[in-house]
Parts: sequence; structure tokens; C-alpha cells
Amino acid sequence: MYNHAPKNYDCPFCAIVAGIEKPENPTLQALIVYRDRYLTAWIASTTLPHNRGNVVITTNKHYENLYDLPSSYGTKIQALSRKIALGFKHVYKCDGTTVIQHNEPDGGQSVWRYHVLLFPRYKDDNFDKYAFSPINASSEERIRYARKLKDYLNSFHE
Ligand SMILES: [Zn+2]
Repeated sequence: MYNHAPKNYDCPFCAIVAGIEKPENPTLQALIVYRDRYLTAWIASTTLPHNRGNVVITTNKHYENLYDLPSSYGTKIQALSRKIALGFKHVYKCDGTTVIQHNEPDGGQSVWRYHVLLFPRYKDDNFDKYAFSPINASSEERIRYARKLKDYLNSFHE
């Protein structure tokens, strides 16, 4: 519903979920911090100067946006968002967390697949200033964050 993906869209998140490592991002699978039957989460390739180690959650099945996403995913996504947000608090020692989800170009969406973005937040981090000009994070940096967060999520108890 209200779809914008071009015909034959080469969906980058489908590649991640399927475990396909592309030459431009050879370390992809090492960046995955959580996976179950329904959801996959990884350290995002772009970040903000003061909010590093940010995470993307997507469904293992391709849905373009919130309008298409079956409501049965709601609790699952909420529960994983909570886990990761608590992971940020515990592992990154951040002061807060922000969860964002974009739909359609005018809603800020740029990857044509439903996903949730989670950012660790810090006092005076200027998030609003940098939010629309993300920078690339190196594979080394992302793997470092992934290892720490994965350890926490693996040992997570309610
Ligand atoms: Zn896809």
C-alpha cells in the first residue's frame, strides 16, 4: 500500500537477511546482533557523529512499509526494540535512546523495506543537527559495536 519501490528493486536489506555478502560490505554477517524466526537486527552502515553503534531492525520477510506490515509483528518489534535500547544503556552507557521508523519519501524513507532505526543518545549530542546528514561508519568500528551488543543480547533475560 502506498508503495514507492522501483520495479526489480535490488533490496539491500533482503541481502542482509538472506546472508548475502556484497563486495562493498564484506563483513555484513559479523554486524548482525540479533536474529530469530521473524526479525533481524544489525549495526547500521551509516551513523551520526555522536550516536555511533546505531542499529537497524527489519522483518525477515520483505514488507515495504508500516502500511503493509501485518499487525502481528507489533509486539515482536516492540520487544526487540526494548532489548536493544536496554543494550545501548548497558553497553554504551548512553543517556537516552531514540527509535525512528520512516514511511514513503515524504516520510523520510530511503530504503524500500520496512525497518526501525535505533540510536543511542547522549546529553548535548546535537542529534537533530546531524540526523539528516549521516556519515559512513567503518567495518572495524561496526564490528566492535556488534560484538559488544551481541554479547549483551545473548545473555538478555527479561
Ligand atoms: Zn527486501
